[in-house]
Amino acid sequence: MNQADSIVIIGGGPVGAVLALSLQQKGVPFTLLEARAKGASHSDTRALALSHGSRLILEKLNIWSEIEAQATAIKTIHISQRGGFGRTKLQAAEHQLPALGYVLPYGVLTKALDSRLDLNHVLYEAVATEVRHESTEAEVFFKQADSEVCINSPLAVIADGGRSLDNIPNIERETKDYGHDALVSKVKTELPHANIAYERFTPTGPMALLPNGERDFSLVWTGEKAKIDTLMALSDADFLNALHTAFGDRVGQFLSIQKRNRFPLKLSTLKASVTPHLAIIGNAAQTMHPVAGQGFNVGLRDAETLAKLLIHAPKAQWGSEPMLQEYQKLRARDAKGSLKFTDSLLEIFSNDLIGVSGARGFGLGALSLLRPAREFLVGKMSYGK
Ligand SMILES: Cc1cc2nc3c(=O)[nH]c(=O)nc-3n(C[C@H](O)[C@H](O)[C@H](O)COP(=O)(O)OP(=O)(O)OC[C@H]3O[C@@H](n4cnc5c(N)ncnc54)[C@H](O)[C@@H]3O)c2cc1C
Repeated sequence: MNQADSIVIIGGGPVGAVLALSLQQKGVPFTLLEARAKGASHSDTRALALSHGSRLILEKLNIWSEIEAQATAIKTIHISQRGGFGRTKLQAAEHQLPALGYVLPYGVLTKALDSRLDLNHVLYEAVATEVRHESTEAEVFFKQADSEVCINSPLAVIADGGRSLDNIPNIERETKDYGHDALVSKVKTELPHANIAYERFTPTGPMALLPNGERDFSLVWTGEKAKIDTLMALSDADFLNALHTAFGDRVGQFLSIQKRNRFPLKLSTLKASVTPHLAIIGNAAQTMHPVAGQGFNVGLRDAETLAKLLIHAPKAQWGSEPMLQEYQKLRARDAKGSLKFTDSLLEIFSNDLIGVSGARGFGLGALSLLRPAREFLVGKMSYGK
């Protein structure tokens, strides 16, 4: 199968689909390979934390108006620590923003994106098995039904979430296992959320409650795997009590909880995310701890930047070394900066040495007084700047 003129995108999650839609809207030919069946991701309720900058990307694609009603605005972020003094609040109004970010179910976003994609260019249940980058093109091998196919393309883009294609020549991955898992679920609380997201640092790991829907919060509780094992094994009633003990009274009693899920937390990054005729974007290029809500938003910015370069470059340059080096240059600072920002937050707040919690409390107190420091945090969380 020769797609000499067509960009091949592997993975139709939100990042791959945003790239595909951006290209489609400007008439750049593409083929999107998605391993799952059509619509399979639409029931995925995982709560994505979208920054204000990601909203702007979705607005440009005319997607935002369709999903806005199902997105819950975060107007205040309340940051506190357990067993220490100091807390701070970041407020959208203080920074002239309609919201600091939004919480949106994964399936709502993928459904809206999928409904806009031209099905002539999307292959569902098509599992890429190997990508080779040659001197003049990329070769993408995939399986669909009983057939095995190879397509040639000037540029293959891997947006598979980092879970299937690895061991690609010239692509070096660095990983750090935090040894922690995230437990995620949805909880109902006695008090309404009032569009406040709570980020709480505890000696065993950060936890967050994100407003999601009219009365619910999405819970993200991170900790060592053994601790998460214990939390997963508790009855709902015991879990809600443990949550109340860890979280305090800010939202009143925790009334009920949906099914609990968990996923491992790791930092994964690539030395270079491009090589001629191949680019790697989204979670496949960088996976980070969810504490600062950066990972997904960095991925959307990858897709936006790559789309802009492809739209403005002559066809002959798609996948060329200069074009991909330009992409790498544009993205490196944001991707590495977001990883560093996330890691520093963890280091500052997860260090449980005697005395550090006092310093941390002082830090949070100072943060509430220092406008430039708050502006830095809001800029990073809202736009990735
Ligand atoms: C289990 C889990 C739970 C998470 N929960 C949260 C959360 O609660 N909140 C949050 O903000 N973030 C969460 N994240 C992170 C968040 O999901 C990612 O930041 C986001 O989905 C990244 O988007 P993406 O498009 O890069 O990758 P993905 O969303 O992973 O999409 C990758 C797509 O590629 C497809 N694919 C994979 N391999 C192939 C292949 N070989 N051929 C073709 N297609 C392929 C997959 O089917 C998928 O559709 C979670 C991640 C995981 C793994």
